[in-house]
Amino acid sequence: MRFTPTELTTDELALQTEVRAFLADELPPGSHEPGLGMSARHDKPFSKKMAERGWVGMALPKEWGGSDKKAVDRFIVVEEMLRWGAPVGYHWVADRQTGNIINKFGTDEQRERFLPPICRGELGFSIGMSEPDSGSDLASVSTRAERDDGGWIVNGTKIWTSNAHTNDWFICLLRTTPLEDGSNKREGLSQVLIDLHNTDGLELSPIPFLNGEHHFNEVSFTDVFVPDENVVGQAGMGWNQNTTEMAYERGGPDRWLSPFSTVEQLLREIQRGEMAGTALHDRVTELFGELTARWWAMRNLSLSVSRLIDAGEAPSIESSLVKEMGTRFEIEVIEKLVELVDQELTLESESLFQRLLAQCVLTGPGNTIRGGTIEILRSVAAKGLQGLPA
Ligand SMILES: Cc1cc2nc3c(=O)[nH]c(=O)nc-3n(C[C@H](O)[C@H](O)[C@H](O)COP(=O)(O)OP(=O)(O)OC[C@H]3O[C@@H](n4cnc5c(N)ncnc54)[C@H](O)[C@@H]3O)c2cc1C
Repeated sequence: MRFTPTELTTDELALQTEVRAFLADELPPGSHEPGLGMSARHDKPFSKKMAERGWVGMALPKEWGGSDKKAVDRFIVVEEMLRWGAPVGYHWVADRQTGNIINKFGTDEQRERFLPPICRGELGFSIGMSEPDSGSDLASVSTRAERDDGGWIVNGTKIWTSNAHTNDWFICLLRTTPLEDGSNKREGLSQVLIDLHNTDGLELSPIPFLNGEHHFNEVSFTDVFVPDENVVGQAGMGWNQNTTEMAYERGGPDRWLSPFSTVEQLLREIQRGEMAGTALHDRVTELFGELTARWWAMRNLSLSVSRLIDAGEAPSIESSLVKEMGTRFEIEVIEKLVELVDQELTLESESLFQRLLAQCVLTGPGNTIRGGTIEILRSVAAKGLQGLPA
């Protein structure tokens, strides 16, 4: 395992300062309701403002609208945005993974068509992996694509598709060669790009979240035609590409920063004197010390994953471990805050801290599931360490 200690360079620290100044200017504390890390609001104008600074798709090549920056530069921008609870939801998936996959495996025609609008913050993507009977065992996906003139006819259902109703397109894992007895289920899969709103035969149905919010969707396909030009990479090689996509998805700061804005808001409310001199104040100070030390350790592990990516490595074991540890840590943070407050939480509380904490309680468990459950990540890491295929 390769978690090499690393520090930010002078140029990287300058970027961090620039992002902090941008946020202080655009979203001063008190001017917006912070989000919980990557579960942030979708705000297209904000995405476009970030894009104008070159902070969306920043690690993509300049030729296709990116900034030719490093994974560490993206880490710095993302860390600041998530810490601040900035509304990065609209460009989130496209910036974190889809743009990279199109760049790595797509054709020049696809790069030209999709990457510049992603980098302008004008194209939001969702992830079409899970199905009603395939979540952890992703290789068992059964949404099938059958050959047709100039493309494929798709039938089946995707589920838990976050924000399919607000994003524009999704990248979907499909079975393009039928599974037969004894065949390897990792073979015969392909990744395709599908327009979520202008595709005949595609239907979106909301699945309400615990609090009634519309986050999830079921996406069903009835004889949907997907042209060959929308197949990413080589038909049948989807499993390997999807594994690469998961590595982009797992190792970043989104996996340990969700409750950060909640803790920061607790400190703000304390600083305003609402708890000064109380026993609670002392307990908060102690808790803050413990959390900061652990956050810093997590952050350094995660930063070293970005350095590995910049060194041309594919750190799927390390990123799985960061997600496994990060989401477990997030749950612990939430539990400690709930214990500290020790009162009924509501989403309508006058205190922003309490509103955020109520939201953490509702969404925290989901973070240990999305992008791979804790058990699956342990299994990926264990197999990787023994040199077995994922
Ligand atoms: C907030 C949120 C957002 C999501 N967004 C998306 C999205 O945008 N797109 C998308 O495609 N999917 C999305 N998902 C779905 C998510 O990826 C799946 O829920 C996840 O992969 C688990 O699959 P499952 O729900 O089918 O659970 P199952 O696979 O049925 O797992 C159930 C339980 O069994 C355990 N388990 C399963 N297999 C094993 C094993 N081999 N060894 C040990 N334990 C095992 C799991 O760890 C889990 O605890 C989202 C989920 C959440 C919670």
